[in-house]
Amino acid sequence: MPFKLFMPAQLAAVTDKRIIMIEEDIFRCRECGFCCHGETTVSLDENDLERLVDYLKMPLAEVMKRYLRQSGRVVQMKTIDGHCIFYNEGCTIHPGKPWRCRQWPLHPSIMSDQANFETIKHSCPGISKKVSYENFRLKLSEVIAGEGDED
Ligand code: SF4
Ligand code: SF4
Repeated sequence: MPFKLFMPAQLAAVTDKRIIMIEEDIFRCRECGFCCHGETTVSLDENDLERLVDYLKMPLAEVMKRYLRQSGRVVQMKTIDGHCIFYNEGCTIHPGKPWRCRQWPLHPSIMSDQANFETIKHSCPGISKKVSYENFRLKLSEVIAGEGDED
């Protein structure tokens, strides 16, 4: 069966409701925090910055100074003790977090690259160990295609 490839925006559009629909079969977040650890974080785009400023209710300059770091055009969150500055037994800015955090681990590369899928599956205990790559792609494709059916 041929699979459609999805753009990041399409995967980002997978709503919490749809995420719940796939939880039983292919993914359920274990809230282990592994994806919030490391010396780097996801990068933020302009919408992420706006959302963060709104959520923290601080001017952008203050948010940048306290929580973010910039290298050229890349803006990431600072890390402390090997984890994202916003991590404390879970994400402390859940409604304001970057879209890439929201999307994880359903990264677009997972749909087109089995090696990436295996890497992500290895690092994220939320992905079912029983699901095959083909079934994972099939179920995620169905979820994404169903987004247009939302009320
Ligand atoms: S690594 Fe996977 S299971 Fe753990 S918190 Fe991140 S998304 Fe959830
Ligand atoms: S913003 Fe939240 S979900 Fe994203 S890396 Fe930081 S603590 Fe984790």
